Amino acid sequence: ERRIFLSVPVDDITYTETLEWIEQKILINEFCQICTINPEFVIAAQNQSRFLSVLQRASLCLPDGQGLLWASQLHGVPLRERVAGTTLVDLIAKRAASKGWRLFFLGAAPGVAELAADTLRSKYHGLAKIHTMEASPSIEDAQSIIQNVRDSKPDILLVAFGAPAQDLWIDRYIQYLGTPIIIGVGGAFDFISGRTKRAPILVQRLGFEWLHRLWAQPWRWKR
Ligand code: UDP
Repeated sequence: ERRIFLSVPVDDITYTETLEWIEQKILINEFCQICTINPEFVIAAQNQSRFLSVLQRASLCLPDGQGLLWASQLHGVPLRERVAGTTLVDLIAKRAASKGWRLFFLGAAPGVAELAADTLRSKYHGLAKIHTMEASPSIEDAQSIIQNVRDSKPDILLVAFGAPAQDLWIDRYIQYLGTPIIIGVGGAFDFISGRTKRAPILVQRLGFEWLHRLWAQPWRWKR
């Protein structure tokens, strides 16, 4: 089921259902864009019509922000589970190790995607080599990214350019990449590589991971 927050769609989906959904789409080789929605996305989309239409066109809009869960409760139509991009990437790597899916990590600061890939490969034995690439969402980099992705033929491409740049980038190039599943993952590689610490599990469960992030990265206060 899909909820709408100020015109932005958010799907009522769990981690388990998301992984099953991804598996089905890989099997039929359908090109899908997945967005990880939080309240910042909803606010930003209010005065960026292109961003709004990208979110409306995406195949799946995951409920990544706790504010969305609280808003859905206030409206009496609660979303069942928060699907955090970082946790999902970990679960995708776990499933990839058993299914043989190929992964490609694009973006993040120098060395970070590579470190995240190494972390996941030592955690999940059997995971195939993960291709990584440092690049920017600028038009100058597009050609070489597309070439690299097409050459390594991943099943899932994870893009860390931050929002909304990553989501606009995926929408623009999805038809050229030839990859079934493409997800904008924000800061996921920073967390998985250990470069940025995630909130303790209890804080995550209580729904205050965003507050921990504000404490850890105070320059984000305005966001
Ligand atoms: N990033 C990047 N290129 C850019 C902008 C951002 O590789 O031009 C990376 C950044 O290093 C980080 C990720 O995108 O790993 C997410 O950035 P941010 O934390 O600002 O995004 P959010 O998680 O808030 O969407």
